[in-house]
Amino acid sequence: EQRTPRYKRILLKLSGEALMGELGFGIDPKVLDRIALEIGQLVGIGVQVGIVIGGGNLFRGKALSEAGLDRVTGDHMGMLATVMNALAVRDALERSNITTRVMSAIPMSGIVEHYDRRKAMRGLNNGQVVIFSAGTGNPFFTTDSAACLRGIEINAEVVLKGTNVDGVYTADPKKDPEAVKYDTLTYTEVLDKQLGVMDLTAICLAQDHNMPLRVYDMHEAGNLAKIIMGSDVGTLIVN
Ligand code: UDP
Repeated sequence: EQRTPRYKRILLKLSGEALMGELGFGIDPKVLDRIALEIGQLVGIGVQVGIVIGGGNLFRGKALSEAGLDRVTGDHMGMLATVMNALAVRDALERSNITTRVMSAIPMSGIVEHYDRRKAMRGLNNGQVVIFSAGTGNPFFTTDSAACLRGIEINAEVVLKGTNVDGVYTADPKKDPEAVKYDTLTYTEVLDKQLGVMDLTAICLAQDHNMPLRVYDMHEAGNLAKIIMGSDVGTLIVN
């Protein structure tokens, strides 16, 4: 293991579900505090952190449309949900004295800044955590695609996807006891084997721009710091 961080700038994707912890819906303040602690460790050793937050703990356009709502309206609600999550994470980070700014792909004057890549880069260079909310700003996309997009835009060295499982498996490890974890995969393997790591748009974008992805278990304390310091936690997806 190295003693200096392996990455200077990362894009961290946190799913909305991750924020709800043991609760079935909404945001668990205990989880927020833990996330703040882990991100604080990274900032403390000089890693620049961009974050894309999901909204699945509140609303998903697809689920709403299956329940009868218009899909685009549902996606708008999902994107607004990510802004609420971003505000909650900013609050937790700032209570831990981590300077944080929230940008939204959808202008929301008076609440958060409108996304501006150059301002985001300046903030990151100054050690601020920058949270990118409202996904890509477009319906029919996901925050995984937003994570790859923003990661590529800000020249992050890696997109880290924190999930509920400790990597990518040959099958769903909760359903199939024979499932085996991959240490590394190529984008093509992910696409060919239809390993639901991220949606196809996100994987294709990452592949086109050579953006490495690492999927890891965000519920295991210390994982983020381990990855940053060079441990091969979870599954790495590269060309
Ligand atoms: N969404 C969208 N466009 C985007 C990103 C998100 O329309 O660029 C909507 C979509 O309805 C999605 C919801 O916001 O279901 C919440 O995002 P996501 O499902 O990616 O959240 P996660 O699964 O990471 O919690």
